[in-house]
Amino acid sequence: MKSQSISKVKLGGRPKVVKKSKGLPQILVDISENIDQLITIDIPLRGATDILYRAAREKISIPLTLAAAQALANNIKAKDIIFIATGWPDRPQVSLQIGETDGPLGAAVLSRALHQAFNAVPFIFIEQQLVAAMAKVTQAAGFKVLTPAEAIKAVNSKAPIHAASVLSFPTDVNEAARTSSELIQKYKPSAVICIEKAGMNSQGYIHSIRGEEKTKYIAKIDLLVREANRSGIITIGIGDGGNEIGMGIIREKIRPLLPFGNKCHCPCGEGIVSVTKTDFLVTATVSNWGAYGIVASLAILLGSPEVFHNGEIECRVIQGCADAGLIDGISGYVGESVDSLPKKIHIAIVDLLTEMIKKGLEMVDRVGRNDG
Ligand SMILES: [Zn+2]
Repeated sequence: MKSQSISKVKLGGRPKVVKKSKGLPQILVDISENIDQLITIDIPLRGATDILYRAAREKISIPLTLAAAQALANNIKAKDIIFIATGWPDRPQVSLQIGETDGPLGAAVLSRALHQAFNAVPFIFIEQQLVAAMAKVTQAAGFKVLTPAEAIKAVNSKAPIHAASVLSFPTDVNEAARTSSELIQKYKPSAVICIEKAGMNSQGYIHSIRGEEKTKYIAKIDLLVREANRSGIITIGIGDGGNEIGMGIIREKIRPLLPFGNKCHCPCGEGIVSVTKTDFLVTATVSNWGAYGIVASLAILLGSPEVFHNGEIECRVIQGCADAGLIDGISGYVGESVDSLPKKIHIAIVDLLTEMIKKGLEMVDRVGRNDG
């Protein structure tokens, strides 16, 4: 594909605006354009996917996945600690032990990729009652789950041991503020990434995409992100519904377009959209795919295809989610599906991305990285 040709490409009826990016070879932009398109195909017909992507893309001239990947590549040094937050206590009125498969899977895969690419040490934050489930999913992605001190020791160990830490994060706002400042000071992470992590609206309330108020059940990662923003640490939000952390940067645009954007079912009257901003926002059909897209663009950017996981690992991590008792947030079943899409669809997306990375890197080899 010629560098300019992609500006004429229309997929799914969505015209893409492709401007030349400063400092990035056009070929990388072209490849990531396709990655963005793949992860935003609205297979389950949720409706929000296109609204979110268009709004996010208006803010930035290069593909969302590439912008996030570039920020990670520019800011993470070997052995750095990375904070990743996820978790959605689902149906908390039934039991606090219920969590869903979208988010933890992406967090585990992203952790694996950042460890593989930078020898980074991932710390994954989630609600206290979901720590055990998240640890199982993280283990399914290949990590030994250890304490923070042990995970840091592991990265310096001569005998290879690949460790991550899974930690609980408070739901109480004041406690979350204290914890955030302690964590940032102690561990100095080089990035804070939120995946499918619901965030506060302008009144401090957190909602489901169906407009129900769930504030008290959710870890207040908003405080961690705000502390990171103040400290000059790169922040990335990944979401698929509009209620997640990171949507703050497109809030005004999406509020009138989402079913519960302006009006929720609770008296707060402010709707579901989070005000919490991140430096970068990646929207996708399924939040996990947003993580896969970032990793795919990172693999291209670094010229390292092995950074991206594969269908086999995807299969194992999805199985890990089921074994951990996580549910499909839409169907409500414990099983190997995410957001109503069966395992084979997620594996297919991973296989397609794998092929796109392979073909993309072949093309980069052919045209060189200096065509920008
Ligand atoms: Zn409300």
